[in-house]
Amino acid sequence: MSIFKEIALKGHEQVIYCQDKISGLQAIIAIHNTALGPSLGGCRMWPYASEEEALYDVLRLSRGMTYKSAVAGLHLGGGKAVIIGDPKTKKSPELFKAFGRFVQSLSGRYITAEDVGTSEKDMEYIFEETDYVTGISAKRGGSGNPSPVTAFGVYRGILAANKYKTGSDALSNRVIAVQGTGSVGSHLIDYLIKDGARVVVTDISEESVKRIKDKYAQVEYVSPEEIYDVKCDIFAPCALGACVNSKTIPKLKCEIIAGSANNVLENEDKDIQALGAKGILYIPDYVISAGGIINVASELGDGSQETAWSRTAEIYDTVTKVLQIASEKNMNTVQAANALAESRISEGPYAHTMYMGEVSFNRRA
Ligand code: NAD
Repeated sequence: MSIFKEIALKGHEQVIYCQDKISGLQAIIAIHNTALGPSLGGCRMWPYASEEEALYDVLRLSRGMTYKSAVAGLHLGGGKAVIIGDPKTKKSPELFKAFGRFVQSLSGRYITAEDVGTSEKDMEYIFEETDYVTGISAKRGGSGNPSPVTAFGVYRGILAANKYKTGSDALSNRVIAVQGTGSVGSHLIDYLIKDGARVVVTDISEESVKRIKDKYAQVEYVSPEEIYDVKCDIFAPCALGACVNSKTIPKLKCEIIAGSANNVLENEDKDIQALGAKGILYIPDYVISAGGIINVASELGDGSQETAWSRTAEIYDTVTKVLQIASEKNMNTVQAANALAESRISEGPYAHTMYMGEVSFNRRA
């Protein structure tokens, strides 16, 4: 398929190829949709095997951001950027500054942030060339580490799903299997333990598991392979994508899947059907993990950290709404979440015009 056909098919507004010969920058910025406001999404740095692979990734990821922000009720569109290159060997201040100049040239139609392969430090270099970057350090007036907020959102989503399944949002004595005890998983465990849940964890990092066990002796550990076999009420994937697939679904013995990991389902259409057949309720990842984007959005307009936390608490209501749409319209939860996002996008202030970029920031430093 021709590149332009591929872009048109996925519904993107604008896709920009960026090259800076001096720093060696090769990047693609994809603006999927700005019906609700400026497109916001992270900048991924990855050693893509080909330009096609990079393009495919940025088109897919930017579309995902449109849906994530819309369902979270944010006045943001969806965008994403990829830098082609190995983050371990190809990073330099000049490269990120050059990328920052390309972002600046879009006058706020695209706002960047950290993603896989990029760090807070890289955002600081971008920030030297453009205001249109979020996720910079709290010291410089940014919103800082999003993981605690993301974990809070996942916790709120779990409460809503539990209420839907059991009639009560109390988690006491519910068994919750958490895959991944990293930045989000560890904060989520704090909430679950506080609510009296029985927590089973796994991680490939022994050090990370030890930190949890030292804090909470009652937490049970199983090996990474065993986590899918744990008889539990809720499975919370907080590690890697595609962990729910045709191999793991037959093993799962849970009522609910709700966690922070991105792209949890390996094959969305097939896997959601297989989960439905087993009576497992799946809470779409982009709905429940929106705390991170809500947190960076607090750097824009009149946002604040307080509004970020209170907006994230509303993930409870969003999950409830998605479940209500699914049951009323006889849809699965992915279809229901998409329908909610699409209805918001179609009513966006820039749905019938072009968003030209009038972003204001509220950085305090
Ligand atoms: P992290 O790197 O801090 O933690 C991930 C943990 O998973 C690590 O401890 C790692 O050792 C473990 N892990 C990796 N492979 C594993 C495996 N096969 N089995 C068991 N454990 C394994 O990452 P994080 O920031 O906590 O994010 C977790 C997930 O949530 C990721 O998919 C991320 O994309 C997604 N997410 C994070 C945020 C955020 O704010 N950090 C926001 C939205 C989505």
